[in-house]
Amino acid sequence: MVALILHTGVGSRIIKKDIEKVRQKLIEKISETGLNMLRGGEDALDVVEKIINIMESSGLFNAGIGSVVQSDGRQRMDAGIMSSDLRCGAVAGVSDIKFPISIARKIIDTTNSICLIGDYAREFGRKYKIPEISKKNSDVKGQSTTNKFIGNTVGAVVLDQNGKLTTGTSTGGLFKALAGRIGDCPMIGAGIYANQFGGASCTGIGEDIIKTTLARYAIFQVEQGYSAQEAANRSIDYFKNTTQSVAGIIILTKNGEYGISHNGKHMNWKYSID
Ligand code: ASP
Repeated sequence: MVALILHTGVGSRIIKKDIEKVRQKLIEKISETGLNMLRGGEDALDVVEKIINIMESSGLFNAGIGSVVQSDGRQRMDAGIMSSDLRCGAVAGVSDIKFPISIARKIIDTTNSICLIGDYAREFGRKYKIPEISKKNSDVKGQSTTNKFIGNTVGAVVLDQNGKLTTGTSTGGLFKALAGRIGDCPMIGAGIYANQFGGASCTGIGEDIIKTTLARYAIFQVEQGYSAQEAANRSIDYFKNTTQSVAGIIILTKNGEYGISHNGKHMNWKYSID
């Protein structure tokens, strides 16, 4: 059995139905690509990295080249990735990088560290030839402020043929956030978490996701015997009651069951199992 769940960002404003439809079609296509990789026996960590790379390089999401800018007009991205064997990597506040999730992945493969920040993360990425965003390509960078897909963080949880789960999230963070601000995505237990029971990826107001360690909270519910959907509902209820803020979560368990919940106005997602 293989399974995959993919999500875009939770939004607190109502968006046009046609935009939502385009977004849904896009993630369904990407989801199919991921499912085919899993069917072909690819490792969960590789699949999460590759499908998030597709979204980071599309310019259509708030991740990688499509990232929104911070208060000083500069893109700073966060990304995190974690597998059920507890191996994890993250980058925070990195600029000019096309595939932030790939730096996070390289940290797992080549270091004993978990998270690298800013210029150090970029230098590390250079060492491994992780593609950068061309500074000349102002068209692509400029999209970030006008892009109709604005606000769309991306995340995925997948289960491979060997029963390994991997979760990953990539984002440009909140539009016009304080320069240097880091959100929940690179914080293990907050924006992402995975262990032998399941994996979770969050979206929403990062500060409140950090305060509630939302991804870890969700997987703890699964550990306590709740189904993936019950765990997702309980997590968003707890989050809402504690912070009165907005978030969304996807969960995939070791049995391939999924859960999704959010308290925003919209959030696109796609679950597939084979
Ligand atoms: N959670 C992300 C952050 O606060 C934003 C999002 O999910 O859209 O950086």
